[in-house]
Amino acid sequence: MVSSRKLRRKKERKERKQLKKEMKNSIQDLASASESLPSNCQTCGMYFDKSNQKAWSDWIVEVSEAGSVNLKCISCTPSYESRIEDLTGL
Ligand SMILES: [Zn+2]
Repeated sequence: MVSSRKLRRKKERKERKQLKKEMKNSIQDLASASESLPSNCQTCGMYFDKSNQKAWSDWIVEVSEAGSVNLKCISCTPSYESRIEDLTGL
């Protein structure tokens, strides 16, 4: 009897590897996008200090497939909790 458990594990490992690859790509995209990063929040116009490490962790940088960069300050983004709710459909 073929172990279906073993087969599934192999598949999961493959998917995880793929995900890792995609993440690496998006980081590279982000690095090149930061060159052309806007210096203000696109919603409220708040100044984004590129030399501020905290700003990098608080602000949301969205790179569209077309390569355009959207920048949003923390006050213009939903809280982490509500974003999780969006993802889980609650
Ligand atoms: Zn803003």
